[in-house]
Amino acid sequence: MIPDRVTLRTDRPPRPSDRLWNAGVETLSQDRLRELQWRRLGPQLRYVYDRSPYYRDRLDGAGVRPGDVRCWDDFARIPVLTKEDLRQAQDGSLERLGHPFGGITCAPRDAIVRVNATSGTTGTPTLYTLTAHDVAVVNEMHARKYWRAGVRPGNVVLQALSLSMFTGGLPLSQGIMHLGAAVVPVGVDGGARRVLEFCRLTRPDALVATPSFALHLVERCPGVLGVPLRELGIRWFFAAGEPGGSELAVRQALEEGLGARVFDHTGGGHAFHGITCHAHDGMHFVSGDHCVMELVTPGSRAPVALDDGAEGELVVTFLAWEGGPFLRMSFGDVVRVRTAPCPCGLPGLRFAIVGRADDMLLVKGVNLFPAAVHGVLAAFVPRVTGQFRIVLPRPGPRVDTPLRLRVEQGEGLARGAVPGLEAEIVEAMRSRLRVRPAIEWVPAGSLPRPEHKARWVEVEPGGAGS
Ligand SMILES: [Zn+2]
Repeated sequence: MIPDRVTLRTDRPPRPSDRLWNAGVETLSQDRLRELQWRRLGPQLRYVYDRSPYYRDRLDGAGVRPGDVRCWDDFARIPVLTKEDLRQAQDGSLERLGHPFGGITCAPRDAIVRVNATSGTTGTPTLYTLTAHDVAVVNEMHARKYWRAGVRPGNVVLQALSLSMFTGGLPLSQGIMHLGAAVVPVGVDGGARRVLEFCRLTRPDALVATPSFALHLVERCPGVLGVPLRELGIRWFFAAGEPGGSELAVRQALEEGLGARVFDHTGGGHAFHGITCHAHDGMHFVSGDHCVMELVTPGSRAPVALDDGAEGELVVTFLAWEGGPFLRMSFGDVVRVRTAPCPCGLPGLRFAIVGRADDMLLVKGVNLFPAAVHGVLAAFVPRVTGQFRIVLPRPGPRVDTPLRLRVEQGEGLARGAVPGLEAEIVEAMRSRLRVRPAIEWVPAGSLPRPEHKARWVEVEPGGAGS
């Protein structure tokens, strides 16, 4: 068994005046953290090899047995696992054994206490299986994030994310409770009106939502509650599920609309956790004692060194993890890392999620993420609403130039102001993203609003098969 609780906080909670939930781990230098990871990697590899026939076949197939891994370069020879691989392992298990726990699940079935899933927006959801120990790890990581942002027992956190099965659902609720704060798990199924009604009823100190949904709440609040959302006393906004929270213009719009300090954070796949600090220069990676982070080149999957400013597809490996540990798993996120010291004084790697590898478009050989377009346009609010679509004649990633961008005009924008605004947006896109779009203007409110997660790319009807 793996249980290794030494880096989890199991004694009394910190004093409210303590800056960190678990200072002993959260102040480790990158070198010390790397040593800890290395110490945990060997037992983790032997554990998955001994207990999961699926992993054993993969490692044997790649010719990398646990005993062969003597340095990080050896480790990087293990093939990257994808959601598609997991789906196949899951389906195989259901077919052969009649249950889904025959893939990467390593713990005995009677030790599994929670099953979660990916959002499943593309294809069959993939399952996560956790033991009580793994749940404790996730709880700890959530507590580390919210504590360093300033949340304490006595605060109320309203959770307006999709709750069903998703890691931002019940696992996040449990993490907030573990910290000792009060969670209001309102979810998003009742739409903006219900979330706003619970803001009025519970007066949350903190709101957790996607940036696009939060901006939608800002837009709707005066109509539903009769006051601007910024007057409800929310002090923290935690952006999740989309990269927008790290974009300067999106963050400013959120700060303004909510009257709150804005933090970007993630808890991707249970063991990979990060949160921004007041410097907003990337999310601090807070779960390095239970997760190894690597970057690879999208496509070739060649390792990319974790140097300051490096960008690549994120690959994670869980450490001291029992249920269904991920071994060199990619969820398809592309991240950029920062290793330079942070003004906040806390050590360790920082990262920003710049987009999804499968959302990445190629415009004349230049990488373009829809989230980056969102970031550029957000700076032009209120002259634009911030709603837009990238219109593709056929599915990407390759895009015929010019890139077609459908943009909503801001409410009450004078007709004569459009050409000048268009020139400004084209110039901002050119200088920041190296792409010169062709803009098609549409009236305010004409593009369908996202339910809880933005969809920014639209393939024209008839374009899918061509
Ligand atoms: Zn910092």
